[in-house]
Amino acid sequence: MPKNPAYIGRFAPSPTGHLHFGSLVAALASWLQARQAGGRWLLRMEDLDPPREIPGAADDILRTLEVYGLHWDGAVVYQSQRNELYQAALDRLLDAGLAYRCGCSRKEVRALGRFGIDGIVYPGTCRSGLPAGKSPRAYRLRVEPGEIHFSDAIQGTIIQNVAQDIGDFVLKRADGFWAYQLAVVVDDAEQGVTEVVRGADLLDSTGRQIHLQRSMGMPTPGYAHLPIALNELGQKLSKQTHAPALARNRILPTLRIAWRFLGQEGVPGDLLATEDFLAWAATHWDIGRVVGSSATETDIHA
Ligand code: GLU
Repeated sequence: MPKNPAYIGRFAPSPTGHLHFGSLVAALASWLQARQAGGRWLLRMEDLDPPREIPGAADDILRTLEVYGLHWDGAVVYQSQRNELYQAALDRLLDAGLAYRCGCSRKEVRALGRFGIDGIVYPGTCRSGLPAGKSPRAYRLRVEPGEIHFSDAIQGTIIQNVAQDIGDFVLKRADGFWAYQLAVVVDDAEQGVTEVVRGADLLDSTGRQIHLQRSMGMPTPGYAHLPIALNELGQKLSKQTHAPALARNRILPTLRIAWRFLGQEGVPGDLLATEDFLAWAATHWDIGRVVGSSATETDIHA
């Protein structure tokens, strides 16, 4: 049983490929933060985007986490099995007039919208009802003007203007799949997550998620966005940049590189077993040492 039932953290991989060094950093840091607090660490498989998923990747991710000694609490939650929860959330938003049906194609949005921080800002065409002749394709959240302020445990004070930089964003996609933003907010609330520790590549999503939490009367968890691991070309490690899969035979050396990447203090030389290292790391972890900016894996070896 956890010593501190008040802390609930999570790791939420998408089964679009193998775990790589960047995903290990997120898994390890969120695990350390939960274990140090004596709380729970949940595992949520974000398998909501079948076109991008790779068969077998979800199981491969779970096995890799186990090999790395990062054991989660409770059963793994699969987003693909939580359709009713997302539908209920969307229905509530529609009933409250906070979400609406949108009949615009990508081409139409591109033609009328201006560039924001994550693609085109929706020009609001269907905000006051579907124009004649259009049929509903997607569902969007009505984003009210104003700034969202939050304090990130690593990145400091963040101010985001969702209306200006993103616009009314998609909750359910035209292809019928749930949008990441809706699912993540519903799940974090339903699972009682108190702190989200994840890569800074998701920082731009946080304003949207807080906006959605407020629209649904859900609590806002704490946030800590980790530096992003880059390859030697300065690109984020990902499937698109061909990040290598985590080695299954160099567990401790790889964990130690991730530990140093997170700005943590030197490891005593006599910690030769993965479990001993992780137990030591959970007591010596200091999130205050993590630096906000991105770093390359090669910097760590230097
Ligand atoms: N599933 C997302 C990813 O793998 C992470 C979601 C999150 O941590 O909020 O990038």
